[in-house]
Amino acid sequence: MTAFSERVAANILPLSQSQTLSVAFKEWAVTDGMIDHEQAIETCQLCDQEDLRYQYEIANRITRRRLWVGSSCILRFDVAVLEKGVLLSGKDRERKLNRLLTETRRRTCIASLERLAAAEKDERLIAALAYYRKHEHLTPKFAAMVLWRLSVAKIEHSPTFFKVCLRRDQHKRDLQTMRLQQVHTLWPALTSAQRQTAIALGHRPPPPPVLAPPAPPPSS
Ligand SMILES: [Zn+2]
Repeated sequence: MTAFSERVAANILPLSQSQTLSVAFKEWAVTDGMIDHEQAIETCQLCDQEDLRYQYEIANRITRRRLWVGSSCILRFDVAVLEKGVLLSGKDRERKLNRLLTETRRRTCIASLERLAAAEKDERLIAALAYYRKHEHLTPKFAAMVLWRLSVAKIEHSPTFFKVCLRRDQHKRDLQTMRLQQVHTLWPALTSAQRQTAIALGHRPPPPPVLAPPAPPPSS
C-alpha cells in the first residue's frame, strides 16, 4: 500500500465493517451534509489533505459512522452519490456535489437574512428576503444594503455566498452611481468578472486588508 492509501485505510477501516478497503468503501455514501468554510482551512478526514475549503459528509450505512471529506476523495474512491435514492454515475456525481454547494450557500444566506429581517422589522429587508428567495440573487442595491445591515447587526453571515445580478442596464447604472463605500461593502459578493465591471464603471477595488506589523524582537 502507498502512504496515501495507508492513511485512507487508517481513517476509514476502524469506522467500517469490512476490513478490505475496496469493500469498505461500498458501505459509504454521500449525505446531503456540506460545509463551505469560505477559506481553505479544513482537513479531509479520509486522506488528511489540508487546506480544504469544501467538506462533504459521508456516512456508513452499517456502522452509522460519519466523516467530513473533500470532493476529490469522493470521486476518487467512488463513494456512492445518490439523488432521491438513485445511484448516480459519471458527471452526474460531480453535478450533484456542485448542487449541494449551491444549496448550502443559499440556505446560509436565507438563514442570515431571516435573522436580520426578524431582528429589525424593516420593510426593505423583508423585500430583499422575498427577492432573494424568488431569484436566488440580489440586485446591487439590495446586496449593498443587506451586507451593510448584516455587519452592523453583527449577524453571522458569509458575504461571498450572496450572488449579485448585474445583467440589467438598471443594475449597472445602480452600481455606477453607488458610493464607493457601498461598492466595497458588496465587493466580496461580486464575481471577478463583476469586479471588472465595477472598475470599468469607475470604481476602485477595496484596499487589501492591513496586516498586523511583526512583533518587535525581544529586548535583551
Ligand atoms: Zn481526501
